[in-house]
Amino acid sequence: MIYLDYNATSPLLPEVVAAMQAVMGEPLNASSVHAGGRRAKKLLEDARRDIAHALGAFPNEVLFTASGTEANNLALRGFPDRPILVSAIEHAAVAKTASLLGAAVIPVDAHGVVKLDALREMLANLIPPPRGGRLGGGQEGTNVLTSPPPSLPLQGGGALVSIMLANNETGVIQPIAALADIVHEAGGLLHVDAVQALGKIPLDWGLLKADMLTVSSHKIGGPLGAAALLIRADLPIRPQLTGGGQELGRRAGTENIAAIVGFAAAVRATAHCPDATRQLMLRKALESQIRSIAPEARQFVFPVPQLPNTLMLCMPGISSETQLMHFDLSGIAVSAGSACSSGRIEPSAVLAAMGVPREEAASALRVSLGWGSTDADILAFADAWKALYSKAAKA
Ligand code: PLP
Repeated sequence: MIYLDYNATSPLLPEVVAAMQAVMGEPLNASSVHAGGRRAKKLLEDARRDIAHALGAFPNEVLFTASGTEANNLALRGFPDRPILVSAIEHAAVAKTASLLGAAVIPVDAHGVVKLDALREMLANLIPPPRGGRLGGGQEGTNVLTSPPPSLPLQGGGALVSIMLANNETGVIQPIAALADIVHEAGGLLHVDAVQALGKIPLDWGLLKADMLTVSSHKIGGPLGAAALLIRADLPIRPQLTGGGQELGRRAGTENIAAIVGFAAAVRATAHCPDATRQLMLRKALESQIRSIAPEARQFVFPVPQLPNTLMLCMPGISSETQLMHFDLSGIAVSAGSACSSGRIEPSAVLAAMGVPREEAASALRVSLGWGSTDADILAFADAWKALYSKAAKA
């Protein structure tokens, strides 16, 4: 199979396999007091230190979770007294959660970049949570007052804003440090979903100025089952999983040591993006191949910062489903703009938020490159694209 779907998940890096194989068979519970437990604890804390250092954080700012989705949920649900604002182009792990929590949605421009003035205005016009009521339970984009659960006293406080660093469909990168300044001036907290940014662009926790940041192992050649929420050590987050005192009492549950060891190996290998320029060159080659086949085909390449590995493109008049089937039959794994857990593809909410017409969005396809991608993969994709496009033109 020619795999061009790295934004969905990535094959394990060889160094990750080696690091995991070295610990896989062992009984590793980091809370046990015997020698095996001490070994597990050391593996856990070494991984935490390496991930922290690679991202410019302190080890006590790294909170391990089982997935990026869990880390995003923890961030959004962890401050129940704060009204929530999220951008219109978030991954479902933020968008759906935010919608359930009655969040307001910050618009983006035609390039998919968050409108700074709109954010400023929304923060200035926030209605503070009233006595005995909280924001919650609304439809997407609306703040609806509901009764608070009795266990959640309201303290007020600024908003919790969640904005992704890099978009999973278009690869567009947000000006996070500037957004952080706006949020902080208004007394808010900023959570950044950096799941698609890690390993593709340099990531520095201090420079981003975020209060929380989500990263996930399986997007960077690490295993499934490990992710992290970077969180300022002084922020009192409400745990979502209660039980044992793991992760300083902020996330109960025995840590998945083998996966976390693999995650740390993947972070060490990719955090400084050693393969980014090569992947960008491959993407540029793909863009020019498609341009020569069909100059009228829209490619989502913008005059704003974008991930090196991601290209969204439209094959005019042919649905994403038809394209996916064709590429699958040709042995090529790609993705429609939006992921589909049920096998049904919904038109991309990201493209809709950018004002892309529905019929155009319905023919969008995402190619995402990674450490194993080669020139031959790009040529094979371009050939398969041309074959389908020519067939459709003749029909
Ligand atoms: N956030 C973004 C931007 C993503 O692309 C994804 C996965 O596609 C997630 C969050 C969810 O991460 P995970 O698959 O680790 O739950």
